[in-house]
Amino acid sequence: MDCLFCRIVSGEVPATKVFENERLIAFNDINPAAPLHLLVVPREHVATLNALESRHDALVGEMTRVAAMLAEERGYAERGYRAVLNCNSDAGQTVFHIHLHVLAGRRLGWPPG
Ligand code: 5GP
Ligand code: ZN
Repeated sequence: MDCLFCRIVSGEVPATKVFENERLIAFNDINPAAPLHLLVVPREHVATLNALESRHDALVGEMTRVAAMLAEERGYAERGYRAVLNCNSDAGQTVFHIHLHVLAGRRLGWPPG
């Protein structure tokens, strides 16, 4: 399958990994939009949020908890951070393997552009 994040999961494409376990990896975004910009990615290929099934509930929960853990480890728990899942074109999804963005280190505008 021609999927960039599957290639990062397999190690075929390098990334600066900051966390991994049996189900997830997290790595630095190549084009950071904030001083901290991590992507938390399941090893399983799920193209968009639209493809989630009930069997993924624990996986998505773990993605969120790992995002919070990584932000906390880096000192952003108190001042805050944002965790974002983009789905399809109106949200600007460009890589069709779900990933949770973790953004921190600057004031983030709301509503998003
Ligand atoms: P999306 O727009 O799909 O929500 O987010 C995709 C993210 O993947 C973008 O923030 C983009 O900078 C990041 N990205 C794209 N290609 C690569 C890559 O080869 N390596 C890494 N580490 N991040 C990538
Ligand atoms: Zn994939």
